[in-house]
Amino acid sequence: MAEETIFSKIIRREIPADIVYQDELVTAFRDIAPQAPTHILIIPNVLIPTVNHVTVEDELALGRMITVAAKIAEQEGIAEDGYRLIVNCNRHGGQEVFHIHMHLLGGRSLGPMLSHKGI
Ligand code: AMP
Repeated sequence: MAEETIFSKIIRREIPADIVYQDELVTAFRDIAPQAPTHILIIPNVLIPTVNHVTVEDELALGRMITVAAKIAEQEGIAEDGYRLIVNCNRHGGQEVFHIHMHLLGGRSLGPMLSHKGI
């Protein structure tokens, strides 16, 4: 069994978080250290540590993460200008919290996709 992270406590509302959306499959809340005017994390309610742990049983929740991202982008008023969805995996991806999460970033031009260029 994977070890719970702080995100499980946020889902269960045991610790404070600015939750902007929650349903039976996913929870979305504002990132505590925003990297853009809109920075929201969308997570499955079940604990999946990384993308490497995803199975076909998770497809419904993972698909919901995208539809919820689009809905929140609309609510935040950033849909038309655009935004970026990021899922980091493990060390090279820069993952810090081992409960899969999608970053929804927008509200300004985000520039090139990666800060480091080259192979
Ligand atoms: P990652 O590097 O992809 O694992 O991203 C983890 C993200 O979680 C970072 O952007 C953190 O700022 C964010 N984060 C960590 N703890 C919290 C928290 N308690 N509430 C909201 N966001 C958090």
